[in-house]
Amino acid sequence: MRTYDYVIIGSGIAGLYTALLAQRRGTALILTKGSIDDCNTKHAQGGIAAAIGEGDTPDLHFWDTVVAGAGLSNRDTVRILVTEAADRIADLIELGVPFDTIDGEVALAREAAHAMPRILHAGGDATGEHIEVTLGRKVRQSRIEVLEQCLATQIVVEDGEVKGVRALDARTGSMEEFPCQQLVLATGGGGRLFKYTTNSEVATGDGVALAFQAGAEIMDMEFIQFHPTAIRLPGVHPFLISEAVRGEGGLLRNVEGYRFMPDYSPEKELAPRDVVTRSMLYEMQKTGSDRVFLDITHLAPRVITTRFPHIYRFCLDHGLDITKGQIPVAPAAHYMMGGVKTNSWGETNIKGLFAVGETACTGLHGANRLASNSLLEVLVFAKRVVERDIDKFSEDGPGVGELVHCGLPRRDVPPVPLAGSTALQTLMWENVGIIRGGDTLDQAANAIASWEKCLEKPVDRSSYELNSLVLTARLVAEAALIRQESRGAHFRTDFPETSPDWVKHVVLKKG
Ligand SMILES: Cc1cc2nc3c(=O)[nH]c(=O)nc-3n(C[C@H](O)[C@H](O)[C@H](O)COP(=O)(O)OP(=O)(O)OC[C@H]3O[C@@H](n4cnc5c(N)ncnc54)[C@H](O)[C@@H]3O)c2cc1C
Repeated sequence: MRTYDYVIIGSGIAGLYTALLAQRRGTALILTKGSIDDCNTKHAQGGIAAAIGEGDTPDLHFWDTVVAGAGLSNRDTVRILVTEAADRIADLIELGVPFDTIDGEVALAREAAHAMPRILHAGGDATGEHIEVTLGRKVRQSRIEVLEQCLATQIVVEDGEVKGVRALDARTGSMEEFPCQQLVLATGGGGRLFKYTTNSEVATGDGVALAFQAGAEIMDMEFIQFHPTAIRLPGVHPFLISEAVRGEGGLLRNVEGYRFMPDYSPEKELAPRDVVTRSMLYEMQKTGSDRVFLDITHLAPRVITTRFPHIYRFCLDHGLDITKGQIPVAPAAHYMMGGVKTNSWGETNIKGLFAVGETACTGLHGANRLASNSLLEVLVFAKRVVERDIDKFSEDGPGVGELVHCGLPRRDVPPVPLAGSTALQTLMWENVGIIRGGDTLDQAANAIASWEKCLEKPVDRSSYELNSLVLTARLVAEAALIRQESRGAHFRTDFPETSPDWVKHVVLKKG
């Protein structure tokens, strides 16, 4: 069997960009469970943050990120991100990503909780698609091997060191082993844990589940970002209405037409995502509705159609002309701040195992991600995974404290069969969603543990994904129970305040 220098799991921005860098250092193989372009990346709308505009500085970007992180961002990691941002953007431009320009200068948009306009975008609101297509083309032109329809099922670890990965090749139905020196998890997030989500079908938390089973440390799983504005229409997937729409002046109104955000925050519609999300929920409860409205009818139609062509087209295809009518919206699960714990070189606690992108937890986002920092995080830390120089490698400085739990709490519950993912997603939405409480979290953790005991041995992609969803759900619920406070995206009715005793991370590890 051939041993690769790098095996990379996933073909979103994290997998493709890491592979393009890795091929300069050795042999590289990408395994991806669907087609090469099945990923969350291609759905990214708003863009990538970088402090490159006039009057902007890495320092301002640093502080916006740290404030959003609500006391849990690792400041060394944030400093690396903002310092290396401009160079990584230059790399993307060199690779051919066609960022939008005005009079020959890169156009910069403003998004919530950013002090300056600093969001680069492409095709108006089709940034992710342009990145995915450009990087995918470069990969196809390179000598990187790509195996599609190939689902990673187990990380092979011997004597504390990664030896390779097992994967199910859906085309042949056979289980293959791929030995490697370095295994990079680039498997994305876990949005599919929840009933309402902006995420694509691939976001089933596989990387976190595989890494946990292999003995890796998993951090910050209680922090799930819910995006305030996903379209809410019967029978329609909760398609994202980008933050940038509020950045351009979009107003939130309840079903009675009242603009409510000024009642909740001085930053109004541009308050941090968790604040807007909870304010919307309160208004929905108050008015007995399952939605509010995003109003951009006061903007010039040309601004809407040129700046948000993708959103405009999607809504029009569903019978709504957003230049004339308000957009029905409600929150949906969007981004997983937690994941496989890494240092600033992408290394996990298992030798040879790395994580990049949404599946990784570098400590950058802390308790809440600043909009448009995630694509940038991938570029900065993928580069460090591949270009880390063993001789120069040094441990990161001490970050925020950690609370390590070895093993998940034993739950003395009977085994109960789980028919499919819908029951799990509904439970997660209702009990482990935007507003949480100790009792309901405990009930959720018990229910998930009951299902866990009854899971059948997986045989195909959907059963492996169901197993990953269940384990990842358990990690989120247990971490949310452990954190007895409210902070960033984690809000508990029984502990509504932020506590100085909880300036630490919850780290879960197989016992
Ligand atoms: C609608 C939407 C809009 C967004 N907008 C923005 C934005 O404007 N700016 C921003 O910074 N961020 C945005 N985000 C977040 C950002 O897009 C993601 O965090 C980022 O794209 C994640 O990239 P990734 O490569 O880590 O994961 P993904 O792009 O999700 O790729 C994961 C890959 O791993 C593969 N995979 C998963 N499990 C396995 C397995 N077991 N075996 C083999 N392959 C596997 C998948 O098939 C996929 O190819 C948005 C997210 C969404 C959903």
